[in-house]
Amino acid sequence: MNKPANPNWAARAQQLNIQGKSFINGQYVSAASEKTFDCISPIDGRHLTQVAACDQMDVDRAAAAARAAFNDGRWSRVHPSKRKAVLLHLADLIEKNADELALLETLDMGKPIRDSLSIDIPATARCFRWYAEAVDKLYDEVAPTAHNVLATITREPLGVCGVIVPWNFPLIMAAWKLAPALAAGNSIVLKPAEQSSLTAIRLAALAAEAGLPDGVLNVVTGLGHEAGQAIGLHRDIDGVFFTGSTAVGKYILQYAAQSNMKKVGLECGGKSAHIILDDCGDLDAAAEAAAFGIFFNQGEMCSAGSRLILDAPIRDAVMEKILHFAKGMQPGDPLDPTTRLGAMVDKTHTERVMDYIANGKQEAELLIGGRQARLETGGCYIEPTVFDKVSNKARIAQEEIFGPVLAVITVNGVDEAIQIANESIYGLAAGVWSDNVNTLYKATRALKAGVVYANCYDADDITTPFGGYKQSGIGRDKSLHAFDKYTELKTTWLKLR
Ligand code: NAP
Ligand code: MG
Repeated sequence: MNKPANPNWAARAQQLNIQGKSFINGQYVSAASEKTFDCISPIDGRHLTQVAACDQMDVDRAAAAARAAFNDGRWSRVHPSKRKAVLLHLADLIEKNADELALLETLDMGKPIRDSLSIDIPATARCFRWYAEAVDKLYDEVAPTAHNVLATITREPLGVCGVIVPWNFPLIMAAWKLAPALAAGNSIVLKPAEQSSLTAIRLAALAAEAGLPDGVLNVVTGLGHEAGQAIGLHRDIDGVFFTGSTAVGKYILQYAAQSNMKKVGLECGGKSAHIILDDCGDLDAAAEAAAFGIFFNQGEMCSAGSRLILDAPIRDAVMEKILHFAKGMQPGDPLDPTTRLGAMVDKTHTERVMDYIANGKQEAELLIGGRQARLETGGCYIEPTVFDKVSNKARIAQEEIFGPVLAVITVNGVDEAIQIANESIYGLAAGVWSDNVNTLYKATRALKAGVVYANCYDADDITTPFGGYKQSGIGRDKSLHAFDKYTELKTTWLKLR
């Protein structure tokens, strides 16, 4: 049952002073056109603020500021230990302001406050801290050449990086790119998603407070086809690093081709397979992971285990447990600290997910959920939804729904499970449960995905790379590998006399 909102968070929300301007060259500014768009909370439809609707003129201003900062070396050429100190300070400030950032995230995109507080904000701080700690420990290389030549292989910052991020983990997705890019010495033009601009706007001020020089981090709010496209097509931006849908990722590739062949990094969609085999020794844990893997964050997860592939002998036992979890995870008020399933990001996305559910009813058997909830609040809520007897060819098995909608497919044995798992245009994540190490190893090798979970799902740490095979993307976020995206490799030959 939905409990009344925790008075604390609801009251604190009333007192928030919400900034909606963009941040260019160290200042909060309106769009040059003076245009704004409404920022509406999906919790209850309340109006939060007006956000600057930037376009090409503003991206030009931000890119010019970023270029000036990069060229004069105020950040790109300072000692790595100095960049480290500033980024560590930023991590501290994120923690110091955790309540405010968590509240902004929850109000803006509807995730439960308990998740914003326990996951989003701490992971963002940890990400900045981790790259800060890394940057003064990275060494370059010397090649094994003849004795009278010295060939060095050095990493240099790329220059001006465009960063375009989605709304499902607004601050973490930004941090995964900003932290290594800034640590490496780049200047940034960041565009948050129009549905979730508020924490990125706030982060800009915290970065300035931490000592990041003006012009190094610019936040340009606005719509994808205006501000986002202008970043993609800009001729003085050296790389664009994108997280979002596969469809928009393909636009980003086209913009790069049409403009200056800027470097492109893409973290795109998924339709991840989560396999439970008949020799899994802990069906309780597997079922809980399967339920959490699709219902966590309202299913608005790139790596959601949205295709559950069950071995026939354990199918009934697992389904019973999953339905039990689904019943216990009804949507609640995101400002209530006990809520596990919050609001969908906005009305448009809610309608999109409901269209998929309507389609699913034609293609498969609806076992639970399938309806909107809490309509009286004026917010956007969808019940945890499970479809059974799904064909892997069905739309709900092939297309990314990005909502709390699970498609269950029954198979006979590991080989059929692997085959079906790999029959997807995506390859972001995959999971497999078995107590037989041979089966487990065979499956982890055969699954075409950037991240494979064995006897777990959604394990995560900044120390490991994240990204996709196939149309789930190009390149990797997180870990030391992320530096590959934000640096150019330079070979220098020095002939000695
Ligand atoms: P989206 O619609 O592709 O938007 C992502 C970002 O691109 C937003 O900032 C958006 O701006 C911008 N954009 C839209 N059209 C653009 C254009 N023509 N040119 C340049 N930029 C444009 O994705 P979303 O709905 O926000 O997020 C959900 C998607 O992100 C899912 O597909 C999910 O799988 C993916 N995702 C992937 C990962 C990963 O690591 N692989 C992680 C999280 C999410 P506006 O919002 O202002 O239009
Ligand atoms: Mg919003």
